[in-house]
Amino acid sequence: MLAVYIDDQPGAWTEGAASRWWLHHSLAAFAASLNALGNGLHLCRGVALSELRALIDAADIGAVFWNRLYEPELIERDRTIKSALRDAGVAVESFNGGLLNEPWELRTKSGGPYKVFTPFSKAQREFVVAEPLPSPAALPPPPELTQGLALADLRLLPTLPWDAGFIETWKPGESSAMAMLDDFADGPVARYQAERDLPARPATSRLSAALHFGEISPRQAWHAAQSAQGEAAEPWLRQIQWREFAHHLLFHFPHTATEPLNPAYASFPWRDDYAADLAAWQRGQTGIPIVDAGMRELWHTGWMHNRVRMLVASLLTKNLLIPWQEGARWFWDTLVDADLPNNTLGWQWTAGCGADAAPYFRIFNPVTQGEKFDPDGRYVRRWLPELKRLPDKWLHKPWQAPAEILRGSGVSLGASYPAPIVDLAESRQIALDLWANEVRGRH
Ligand SMILES: Cc1cc2nc3c(=O)[nH]c(=O)nc-3n(C[C@H](O)[C@H](O)[C@H](O)COP(=O)(O)OP(=O)(O)OC[C@H]3O[C@@H](n4cnc5c(N)ncnc54)[C@H](O)[C@@H]3O)c2cc1C
Repeated sequence: MLAVYIDDQPGAWTEGAASRWWLHHSLAAFAASLNALGNGLHLCRGVALSELRALIDAADIGAVFWNRLYEPELIERDRTIKSALRDAGVAVESFNGGLLNEPWELRTKSGGPYKVFTPFSKAQREFVVAEPLPSPAALPPPPELTQGLALADLRLLPTLPWDAGFIETWKPGESSAMAMLDDFADGPVARYQAERDLPARPATSRLSAALHFGEISPRQAWHAAQSAQGEAAEPWLRQIQWREFAHHLLFHFPHTATEPLNPAYASFPWRDDYAADLAAWQRGQTGIPIVDAGMRELWHTGWMHNRVRMLVASLLTKNLLIPWQEGARWFWDTLVDADLPNNTLGWQWTAGCGADAAPYFRIFNPVTQGEKFDPDGRYVRRWLPELKRLPDKWLHKPWQAPAEILRGSGVSLGASYPAPIVDLAESRQIALDLWANEVRGRH
């Protein structure tokens, strides 16, 4: 048996820099696990079909197996490989290792795909989630072959050393993911509903990258949480169902990675003079503390809390009127859990143009959201040390703080920390008027 990883990334969505960092370490961990089972991981790079053909010839391989991927361009690639290999007399089978259900298994009463989460989630619960299979205790040795590439030859790691924060935050690989899942299922999953929106708490599983890269499967996550906590795990299981919903949507509406699902948004008049504001948002320099904290958490760790993802996305699309695709691209490059279905759903949901999306008039107020979900300012102070001494009362709105408070806290707006790049109330009204005129009439 030969286990193979081919670094082949067709199309527009080649993995971003943060994902490639994760992939490097994940492959190292996978290779170590396979070695311990008496096999190993053969690495190559190039067009997958040609690489596979070369291996099939070199090692006289009669059958090829893989777990399915669901991004539109990868479906196309894998379909081509399957038929070409079958035509050449090689047995080929693909399996579902990454989802609870195949995206085509769930259908509305009229036979179409779902666009609303609640009926989708009800339909999904009609299926029994199969128990995960046990891992093998040993594997047959690999065939004699010339050596594959070394992991370093895939050049997945950054050339500049910007990954120190990643190294201190993450340990990619199956055994670490399983340990995180066990710890989470033991206790935090039962407190998830109460604490999930508080970004300063370690209250969510942080398993998104492990799920994306297939280090653990949603079936394992589902059964671990359910058997440890029963009913109390339900709110978290719903998040696993959101992941399923995202895959369902992208499978049935493959154009939505770049185009709005709701066609009423196709000609929305986004700004086009936004380069400076986009750069300020990317660098965590908007002058809106909870947004800047999130963007700096993202840059430092490659991850951001879900509540804060919604806030930064709302500021970008609704207050700054920058196209959601710009935000999605930045997330794609900087998130270790960058995932085309989930990222597309998250951005389209926040911008209001996706399935079951936030209505256009829902524009998060980052000040009141900060005060509600980070009331003692622990999250903001962690990521914005320049605001550390500002009292809680002003932490989420330093531009309203009296001059002597700012001075006493060592904050100089426009120098040590930016003044806000946008007036929240004014920009909210502009967005509401635009949406009412440009979108509502076309719904
Ligand atoms: C603008 C925006 C962009 C996003 N981009 C991504 C992305 O690229 N990759 C990604 O995995 N998630 C994305 N999300 C969804 C969500 O923020 C993350 O999945 C979550 O924060 C990961 O943390 P966790 O593993 O601790 O999640 P938990 O709260 O522990 O949830 C468990 C798992 O459920 C899934 N999940 C949770 N929330 C969602 C959701 N809203 N939609 C779909 N699946 C969900 C994830 O796989 C997650 O690991 C995005 C959300 C927004 C608002």
